[in-house]
Amino acid sequence: MTNIIYAGGRFVNGEQAAVSVFDHGLLYGDGIFEGIRAYNRRVFKLDRHLDRLFDSAQAMRLALPWSRGDLAAIVLETCARNGIVDGYIRLVVTRGRGDLGIDPRSCRAPELFVIARPSMALYASRAGIAVVTSSFRRPAPDTLSPAIKSLNYVNNVLARMEANDRGADEALLLDHQGYVAEASADNVFIATGEALITPPCATNLKGITRETVLEIAARLGIRAEERPFTLFEVWIAREAFVCGTGAEIVPVLNVDGRKIGGGEIGPLTKRIADAYFAHVRETGTPIPALAASGSSRTSVAAAE
Ligand code: PMP
Repeated sequence: MTNIIYAGGRFVNGEQAAVSVFDHGLLYGDGIFEGIRAYNRRVFKLDRHLDRLFDSAQAMRLALPWSRGDLAAIVLETCARNGIVDGYIRLVVTRGRGDLGIDPRSCRAPELFVIARPSMALYASRAGIAVVTSSFRRPAPDTLSPAIKSLNYVNNVLARMEANDRGADEALLLDHQGYVAEASADNVFIATGEALITPPCATNLKGITRETVLEIAARLGIRAEERPFTLFEVWIAREAFVCGTGAEIVPVLNVDGRKIGGGEIGPLTKRIADAYFAHVRETGTPIPALAASGSSRTSVAAAE
């Protein structure tokens, strides 16, 4: 497998890609990231991922020295250099190298790295997962806003470990008021009657897959609501699924030991998933063919 990573302002072999032990992304989780997918030689919703990256940067007071065009070019070239047809891309920006001590004024410049892999699986099976309610809560919006896609994922990591310890594939996290927020790396939908319901975004990440599902539902004439709901509504839902760039769309077949939808993918989830997998293959920013000389590297260097 080709393993070319963009790091430190250039493309390097994977083994040579490194960040400093003084990088505040590593020392304090002081950084932001995006997980992006490519399908059929196109990067899906690259613009929306860059929108969210810039929003996270603004919230973190992290001045990005790259334009959107620079970042798009680096993402696309990383894909091209790795021969990505279908794949997963991780774009990370850290506060950069600084001193020990959280004060970000010691950091001279943000660090950027981009990894592109031909595959990425969040769960053992995409056919359906079991989830359990986590003892960890998503942070309230007046603490570390879950809307910032920051490198601080410990809440999510602990929830996922706990879920796996309890024999489940994924965690269902509640918010500070006890309403359903999201899963450890995906948004959550339930279907009750003929409508899909997903929680409003104040207590979860404004997922790009979630947004796409809402667009698809509107296109298919499936009623969809954004409103808070409780665990009880999940337990009695006809269908449930998680969605995210990494997860894509995965039916939830068991919640806290309760079988959902007879234990198999429900009709609404299937319609949404089928439409989603067709849609992602039809749209997106084309990954350019790599020039034989690798000449686009110059333009990337100039972007630094
Ligand atoms: N919630 C969390 C906590 C996530 O990490 C992710 C994955 N980025 C999502 C939801 C889904 O977001 P998206 O559809 O934009 O990947």
